[in-house]
Amino acid sequence: MSDTLAGSLYVVATPIGNLEDLSPRAVRVLGEVAVIAAEDTRHSGRLLRHLGLSRPMLSLHEHNEAARVDALDARLVAGEDIALVSDAGTPLISDPGFVLVRELRARGRRIVPVPGPCALVAALSAAGLPTDRFLFQGFLPAKGGARRGRLEGLASREETLVFYESPHRIRDTLADLAATLGTRRVVLARELTKAFETFLDGSAAELLACMEEDPDQARGEFVVMVAGAGPRGDADASTVEADALLSALLVEGLGVKQSAAVAARVLGGTKKAWYGRLQSLKDGD
Ligand code: SAM
Repeated sequence: MSDTLAGSLYVVATPIGNLEDLSPRAVRVLGEVAVIAAEDTRHSGRLLRHLGLSRPMLSLHEHNEAARVDALDARLVAGEDIALVSDAGTPLISDPGFVLVRELRARGRRIVPVPGPCALVAALSAAGLPTDRFLFQGFLPAKGGARRGRLEGLASREETLVFYESPHRIRDTLADLAATLGTRRVVLARELTKAFETFLDGSAAELLACMEEDPDQARGEFVVMVAGAGPRGDADASTVEADALLSALLVEGLGVKQSAAVAARVLGGTKKAWYGRLQSLKDGD
């Protein structure tokens, strides 16, 4: 139960590049609250000036978030409304705010999402990879060994995998993707909603080669999406070749079970998933 006299914390999504993506509701809320808690007050101050708004601001980032909770709660209890914004996109999504929201919710305060831009959702909406199930992993570890370990741990997941990545590490991440997940289809969404928005599609090795040829392709901000394991819609960069291999195994007289084991070893993914695909190939689906 929330206290009806207390104010609300509005969690407000802001643009990830294109300022036209800020919703009219977000603009209204930002103009009406008593204070805006911002990841970087200078950065968000520029957005407010662009909107012709002037509201008191305070910083809220990973290093002071826990220490801010009591003071912000006191303001809510006094009846003030507060907005939470991050530098870009939706707060709490690889951004500060989780501790604040968790603590305020535990105290029964009203938390109101004001939805809007989010890089992972924008990227998925235009990638052409399955979106019915996806696994968002935020940023991969910075160190190579830990990064490859994380990717190996995800190798058998059937959901579309989604990562955030910076221009400093995009090449290393693609190289590790090629080493751990092979020829899976990768879609890179770069500079979403900005002037140089680009989608690149191919195996990790192909995308790496594309960046070697044109270093501009390695600039900017990235969402990296990788097809899930097994034959769930475009799992492999070359699904047609995968099906050709499966058919050849069956024609050579290998049983479905053995063929599934070979496919899992050569193409990645689980034996179970390939078993289903082989069964339907055999049945002529
Ligand atoms: N809260 C944000 C959201 O809702 O998407 C994400 C913040 S996180 C600190 C920043 C990362 O998001 C970037 O390194 C990049 O991976 C991704 N990102 C943000 N804006 C992007 C854009 N315009 N194009 C592609 N990726 C973007």
